[in-house]
Amino acid sequence: MSFLNQDDSSAFSSAQAMAGAWLCVDREVLAQNYKKLDSITGSAECAAVVKADGYGLGAAAIAPALLNAGAKTFFVAHLQEGVQLRQVLPHARIFVLHGFMIGCADLMHAHHLIPVLNDLGQVKEWADLGAVHGGPLPCAVQVDSGMSRFGLSAADLAVEGAFDGVQPCLVMSHLACADTPDNPANEQQRRNFIAMAEHFPGVPRSLAASSGIFLGSDYHFELVRPGAALYGVAPNDGVPALGHVVRLEARVVQIRTVPPGAGVGYGLTWRAEKPTRLATLGIGYADGFFRAQAGQAAVWCGDVRFPLVGRVSMDSVSVDISDAPESLKPGDVLTVLGPNQGVDSLAASGGTIGYEILTSLGARFYRHYL
Ligand SMILES: *Cc1c(COP(=O)(O)O)cnc(C)c1O
Repeated sequence: MSFLNQDDSSAFSSAQAMAGAWLCVDREVLAQNYKKLDSITGSAECAAVVKADGYGLGAAAIAPALLNAGAKTFFVAHLQEGVQLRQVLPHARIFVLHGFMIGCADLMHAHHLIPVLNDLGQVKEWADLGAVHGGPLPCAVQVDSGMSRFGLSAADLAVEGAFDGVQPCLVMSHLACADTPDNPANEQQRRNFIAMAEHFPGVPRSLAASSGIFLGSDYHFELVRPGAALYGVAPNDGVPALGHVVRLEARVVQIRTVPPGAGVGYGLTWRAEKPTRLATLGIGYADGFFRAQAGQAAVWCGDVRFPLVGRVSMDSVSVDISDAPESLKPGDVLTVLGPNQGVDSLAASGGTIGYEILTSLGARFYRHYL
């Protein structure tokens, strides 16, 4: 990377100028990631999961890019997310993973969203709504193949006539341990899923999310549902991430050189052993830069690593820039997420997973989309 050339003020909007950190989302890479997953999964349809505001990247900005890349089917978690997504994707097929809360079936229908029905109460309510509208309405049915989180049990499936009034267009389940390929629970869930899906002959089946795709074609069935892998999170420890979609840069707010013995930040938990040049950056835990990163994470300038010193504040963090070029100055940016530190490695230093890094990305970043 190069330092920001502030002389080129024309290329620099005021929104960008005012922000403490910049998030860049590369929709070209996102589209490539989609196409890669789509080709890996062969004849299975590759849907796109855009819940939690597109894993923090901004569903309204990325969903159309996924559509252009070929995605026809989208998943969100909550009905409210589905209503918002419908505004940007007027014609796509949108499934709502949680189905609907009691009394919200008509809202689901009004926005042409397809509920994932998870219990017999939802099935009944959806069937009743279909009766009002002159026939069964499309839905997905989720079966619990072993994760004990969402979905119908084998006993539910056996209830006589329970599904008479609905028209499933997908039967799905979710894997608990897909990121550990050797875990025998994967094969157990796969077998359970096949058996339970037999209650819905001819209906397309879906079991795999990102990690499940990399368990092999036995797990692909007729539709796969990746989220994280699209956004540059590694599917499991043995499979590298697809392209890096996000780049996050934090701006230098202030630079100082502290003498030996000076303490830094809340609690003065870090003390300089020698004269040390420090930069205070405009990113903190309110922006999803976790407090647990203290003493662990670093930011980068090209290939030079600047370790964090002291605690992470709400709005700022301090880094040791003793190895930085003299020219580094306030307003310049250092890289938090980029080629030398991807989502997964930042997650590892903070004791979490790439999913949590992405979904915590701050609301006050200046965001731009390529
Ligand atoms: C979140 C979610 C997905 C996508 O999972 P990734 O691991 O991000 O690919 C797929 N299916 C269900 C049911 C989910 O909850």
